[in-house]
Amino acid sequence: MNYRIACECGQLLSVGEGMAGVHVTCSCQRVVKVPSLLELRSGRFPPAPQPADPSGAAQQHVIVIGVLGAIGVMAAVLTVFWLGNLTGIGLLLFVAGRLWMLVIGFRANPNLGCLLLLFPEIMTFTFAAVNPKLALPPLLCAIGGIMLFIIGLAAHL
Ligand SMILES: [Zn+2]
Repeated sequence: MNYRIACECGQLLSVGEGMAGVHVTCSCQRVVKVPSLLELRSGRFPPAPQPADPSGAAQQHVIVIGVLGAIGVMAAVLTVFWLGNLTGIGLLLFVAGRLWMLVIGFRANPNLGCLLLLFPEIMTFTFAAVNPKLALPPLLCAIGGIMLFIIGLAAHL
């Protein structure tokens, strides 16, 4: 939630709850103290419109990720029945890593999220090469999932 606080110059500054109590510099160079969280939430400060996040697109990607997640969980449950626990857990980890990556991608940039959705293999590794800190944990999760899946499959057969 963002709020608008007024600077002496008349400009409204948009501040998040995480900025409560700190000082921000207005574009007029005045330093403005952000009120405490309690004051921010008191209703005296008008909520600011969310920063350029097309909420329609944001909701769409939440739905897409939710549907993919549901399909992944169902596939994993079926896999447990057909191919054993380890295989199912591997598949679940793989799906989780994939969805995790998608969430990170969409948060970083909706276009990146769409690319990750359309070209998962290529984009995942490209993303990991460009931003390893962000992309490596979900990538390792997915790779670990594949390895468990293969081990589980080998053990089952
Ligand atoms: Zn100002």
